[in-house]
Amino acid sequence: MKVGVLALQGAFGLHEQVLSRLDVAAVQVRTAEELAEIDRLVIPGGESTAISKLLDANSLAHPLADRLASGLPVLGTCAGLILLASEVVDGYPGQRCFGAVDVAVRRNGYGRQSESFSASIEVRGWESAFPGVFIRAPVIESAGTDVEILAELDGIPVLCRQGSAVVSSFHPELAEDDRLHRWFVEQE
Ligand code: GLN
Repeated sequence: MKVGVLALQGAFGLHEQVLSRLDVAAVQVRTAEELAEIDRLVIPGGESTAISKLLDANSLAHPLADRLASGLPVLGTCAGLILLASEVVDGYPGQRCFGAVDVAVRRNGYGRQSESFSASIEVRGWESAFPGVFIRAPVIESAGTDVEILAELDGIPVLCRQGSAVVSSFHPELAEDDRLHRWFVEQE
């Protein structure tokens, strides 16, 4: 299995480090050719507006939309969640969102950089809490009926799955806890 990490902007290097700790071959994805080669994709946190523009600049938006539509397993964290959402509030005009998960998100809904925080996340079915790091994180304001909510914080979904797409509003690559990545790469 070859896992790609979208490497246009943001925290892609840390996701690669987690995957290498798990002995999973990870490759950086910046082109349509590289995207065509992979079996799974991580879309990292960073700045969703910049990633959106770079997807267009690198002619990746349409190939990515096609692969997501045909069920490419994908993990989107923070900005990655924004890109995989079906609706973005407070985006820039024309900002891409691919609708892999039927959620509406508000960019920076948890506040500014200085309001970053950590919180214990109780994930359904997991024995102990996961350390969630929230940095200018999006708030999931609504979720469609096909969305499985795997964790909430104060009644707001923070980890969701729809089909083969998994999204978190926090940054699992900063947690020193590899369970979320392991679970993602082991999913059928
Ligand atoms: N606020 C950023 C955005 O809109 C996301 C922040 C993050 O990924 N840590 O893209």
